[in-house]
Amino acid sequence: MSFLKQNDPEIYKLCEEELQRQSYNLEMIASENFASPAVIEAMGSVFTNKYAEGYPYKRYYGGCEVVDKMEQIAIDRVCKLFGCKYANVQPNSGSQANQGVYQALLQPYDKILGMDLSQGGHLTHGAKVSSSGKTYQSFFYGVGSDGRIDYDRVRDIAKIVQPKLIVCGASAYPREIDFKKFREIADKVGAYLFADVAHIAGLVVANEHQSPFPHAHVVSSTTHKTLRGPRGGIILTNDEEISKKINSAIFPGIQGGPLENIIAAKAVGFYENLKPEWKTYAKQVKINAKILSDILSKKGFDIVSGGTDNHLILISFLNKEFSGKDAENALGFSGITVNKNTVPGENRSPFVTSGVRVGSAALTSRGMKDAEFTFIAEKIAEVLNNIGNEKVYEKVKKEVYELSSKFIIYDRPTY
Ligand SMILES: *Cc1c(COP(=O)(O)O)cnc(C)c1O
Repeated sequence: MSFLKQNDPEIYKLCEEELQRQSYNLEMIASENFASPAVIEAMGSVFTNKYAEGYPYKRYYGGCEVVDKMEQIAIDRVCKLFGCKYANVQPNSGSQANQGVYQALLQPYDKILGMDLSQGGHLTHGAKVSSSGKTYQSFFYGVGSDGRIDYDRVRDIAKIVQPKLIVCGASAYPREIDFKKFREIADKVGAYLFADVAHIAGLVVANEHQSPFPHAHVVSSTTHKTLRGPRGGIILTNDEEISKKINSAIFPGIQGGPLENIIAAKAVGFYENLKPEWKTYAKQVKINAKILSDILSKKGFDIVSGGTDNHLILISFLNKEFSGKDAENALGFSGITVNKNTVPGENRSPFVTSGVRVGSAALTSRGMKDAEFTFIAEKIAEVLNNIGNEKVYEKVKKEVYELSSKFIIYDRPTY
């Protein structure tokens, strides 16, 4: 008997509804994934009851002898996973991890150089609407006409701007990020290199993407995207001085009592990431993204940068009558969940856009492989070639339902 069902039927019903939505649609938002039942169980554990301000064995509260052991395990596992020395597992989100990094290394009005949001960067990389763009003087680099980061241009901008910190890492960039090149640029101008691997962390830990170590001075990530743990953030470094500053920046700098239940779930997630099977998963994530890219470009769609090295593709509609928003809606009606995204050379507003971002990580977690992704790519093409045709949406929605019914996410309710 579910406690939730008994005590709060209204929210219980919405949990049911959301599980149905996740189960019978194709979740292709590149930043999403399906956490394992074990991760979800740990998130719902009694660790939520415990106040533990401070860090393991240095707390401001009594009764921390159990959380100390647990949080230390999370730290040890994530250091092993990334091959680094120091970790802070307390950031409540990727954005708070980044805010912590800036607070640790910068003073207000210091200069930061990051990837432009409209070119694939993240809000927290200096966008003016984010605290990163309000607190610091932010400058931007982007991609060249080939859709790839133009490292020569990054170097030129860095020389002119003389930033104190360069942030690399992206939210909508389909190509491998060259951390070594970024470090060379950072060294030339005496800047810190901060790598935000939020999107690609699950590939990095499987050696399916270049590691930010030993190149970056500091690394942040989310734990819920390709890493497939609970929603949250982490900060990693090999530098003891930096690690101390990071710890003070997170607590008491920007956070209070850590979400110890989430930290327990992070530990469970890292345990899964350390297993040999993780490598198989990460490889398949990349294969599946490549299938989407190959088939859609064969069918005449413009894939930004001409392909993908990671878990996502960007389809550009600059040469089409319809927008990213139209495509997101049409695919949504057809049971395929993606998000609209700006593309390099964008000529529509950020609320409309000329592209969609499509990711393979979540469906790969459901066990879908080459055959299913071939089918899905064909269905995406079918919908995009029939924008406005509701009969096509209905037909594809049925086919999506049939496919997703064969790949059950959770065989028993985990809420
Ligand atoms: C998702 C993302 C973040 C922020 O993570 P939240 O948990 O949503 O705050 C930060 N940086 C990058 C590159 C991201 O993709």
